[in-house]
Parts: sequence; structure tokens; C-alpha cells
Amino acid sequence: MNKTSPPATSPSGASPLTRLVHAGKQPAFDGGRPVNPPVVRASTVLFDNTAQQREMRMRRGDERLFTYGARGNPTNFALEDVVSELEGAYRTRLFPTGLAAIAMTLLSYLKPGDHLLMSDSVYEPARKLVGSFLTPYNIRCTFFAADGSDVEEKIEAGTCMIYAECPGSLVYEMCDLPRLAEIARVRGLLLVADNTWGSGCQYRPLALGADVSIMAATKYLSGHSDVMMGTVATTKDTWQALAERSDAFGMTVSPDDAYLVLRGTRSLAARLALHESHGLQVAYWLQSRSEVATVFCPALPDHPGHALWQRDCKGSNGLVSFELQPGFDQRAAERLIDSLQLFGIGASWGGYESLVTLADMRRARSVTDWSDRGQVIRLHIGLEDPADLLRDLLQGFAALTA
Ligand SMILES: *Cc1c(COP(=O)(O)O)cnc(C)c1O
Repeated sequence: MNKTSPPATSPSGASPLTRLVHAGKQPAFDGGRPVNPPVVRASTVLFDNTAQQREMRMRRGDERLFTYGARGNPTNFALEDVVSELEGAYRTRLFPTGLAAIAMTLLSYLKPGDHLLMSDSVYEPARKLVGSFLTPYNIRCTFFAADGSDVEEKIEAGTCMIYAECPGSLVYEMCDLPRLAEIARVRGLLLVADNTWGSGCQYRPLALGADVSIMAATKYLSGHSDVMMGTVATTKDTWQALAERSDAFGMTVSPDDAYLVLRGTRSLAARLALHESHGLQVAYWLQSRSEVATVFCPALPDHPGHALWQRDCKGSNGLVSFELQPGFDQRAAERLIDSLQLFGIGASWGGYESLVTLADMRRARSVTDWSDRGQVIRLHIGLEDPADLLRDLLQGFAALTA
């Protein structure tokens, strides 16, 4: 008998204590199956015999097998497959947060003595990893211009990774990723990209030549502001280093969280189409305001990265930032933010709802000088009716000068 399928009834004559442990393991009903993969919660995984256990342990280094909770479970595997599909990847690994995905990527491919080139446009906590982790572990880092124009001249003898984020955080600078991929290929460097903005729908770094693509699934993949997760998708050649290091560090996620993200991915493309359409309506409206110096969204024709966006992206999303005329100070910007009714004040983004936050560009960039620029406000445009959002922004702008 296959011991993984439990007996139909509890062992006859077993005590209530035993029946309590063994009862209820049959499917609750005969018939079909649910649409969605069930949540499989497990730490221990049971084997039929020692030979099977030994075989699974031998094979699990190369194959994805259900052998222990820390090495994933069928719910997580289903989400990994969806992300691999989105990213065009060989395989995908899940992490508890987007930041954990970034940190484990650096930890998997870099060692003391190595040199890393990081884009000036990266998500700020990724930049902070340089001081908190890389420098103390003797991994050197140089920031390159967000458009990638100075990458070649910044390569050193020990350089082994180019880490890009395209479009960049907060003001969405574009770099020519295929060109960076060619530079990396010729010199044998690894090209890593943070693809949270593109979410695998609007931008696909692996198809453009990157080796590794990272996403904060916390954002659009989940889409409902109620779960944290990060994903790392790789090519076949780069998979093993990530998988081994992540296993060594015991990296996994809860199947309940994987279920939520998996559920979110089913409506990802439909939500993004609305975020994009609503975001553009707000972006064009902002461009018409005299209080605004610049509107940042790569889908706008006068964004410096627009040509690359047109070439490499399938669309945009709900992220729109804008710079106030330099005459407005931080307190004026905060009056605008505080007066908004439909925009939640908060970090993160990618949920169905609109958000607003003040961006500190002086802190977020070191290669580009932002010292004489105006206040930058980041909006995430949600699924609300854009006419209502514009009415809210209109009264927000009135508070600027109040
Ligand atoms: C939010 C974000 C992350 C980090 O994701 P968390 O799940 O919040 O840790 C990483 N990269 C980018 C570009 C992000 O916007």
C-alpha cells in the first residue's frame, strides 16, 4: 500500500487519541477539483520508505521536489511557475520580501573582493545595502548614471556584476538594457535587473539579455496591498548559485502568502491596463498645471527615456511622479499631500488604490545632482475613477498656496 494516501478509515480499535491524529485525511468530497491549486501547508514531508527518502535527497539539488517545507511546497511551486512564465525564466525562487530577494541575489553572486556596478536609480533600500552589508564584507560598489551612459568607463578589474533598475525608482529613468547586456556578455559580467516596475508584463529584462530579474511581488503581482513577497527569476546558467545559497540560508515563503500572490497574478494584465490608462490621464493633467515643473512617466513623449520605453516596454503602470516649481518648499508640498482625500499617504505601491508620498531625490541619487530641483511627489494611480482623482488633485493644488 502507498503510505502517502491515508487509509479510508482510522485503524480499527484505535483509541480516540489515535483517531484524532489519523481521521479526516480523505478528500472532503468526491468529484471534481478546485480551479486554484490548494494551499499546502507543510514542514515535514513524509516518504514511503528510506530508499525513497534517500533518492529524493539525492535528486533535490537539481530537481524541484517536495522534500521539506523550507524547500518549497506545491502552492509555492505553482507561483514559481507563473513568475517563470511572466519573466521568460528557467526557474524562479520566492523570498519573504522584495528587499530579501535583492539581498539574496547579491549574496548569491558576489564574494569578498568583488566589485559591483549599481544604477543610481535603484530602490533606496538596495542602495543602503552597500553601507550595511557590501562594504563591511569587502565587496566594493560604484554607482553608474541611471541612463547607463558611464557603465563602460566604471568597469574595474574585479567587476563581476552590473545591477540595473529600469525604469528607475521614483522618476523612472530608462537605460538601454540590451546594450548593458552586450557589455556584460563581452566581459563575462552578470547583468541583474530589478523588474518591479515592469512586473513581467510591461518589461521583461531576461528577454532583453539580463541573467537575473528581481521583482517585489508585494507590488503589482499581489495587487491588493496585503502581502509581502519577492521573486528572483534566472536563466539556466545562473540558477544553481541562487538556489544553493537560498537553500543554505533557509529562504522560503508561507504557502498562504504564495496563494495570495498567485491569485493576484491572474488579474495582473487587466489591472495594469487600467493603472496605465488612469495614470496617463493624471500625467497629462499634471503637465497642464503651471505649479508643476516636470512630470515623470516614461510613457510621456517628453520623458528622456521615452524612445527606449517605446522600444523595450509593452506599456506603463500607475506610477506618476511630479516635480513642483522650485518656488514651492517642502511645507507647501506637504500641504498638498495632506489635503488629498482619495490618496492614501504611504510607501509601497501596486495595490488597487491610489497613494501619495513625498520623494527625497537628494537622498535617493548620488550620481545625478538634484540639489537645485523642486520638491518631488510620487503618485500611485489606482483603479478609482480618474475624474474623481483629478477633482481631488485640483483641490490639493489649491492647498499648495493656501
Ligand atoms: C518595493 C520595491 C522593492 C522591495 O519590495 P518589498 O517587498 O517592499 O521589500 C524592491 N524594488 C523595487 C523597485 C520596489 O519598488
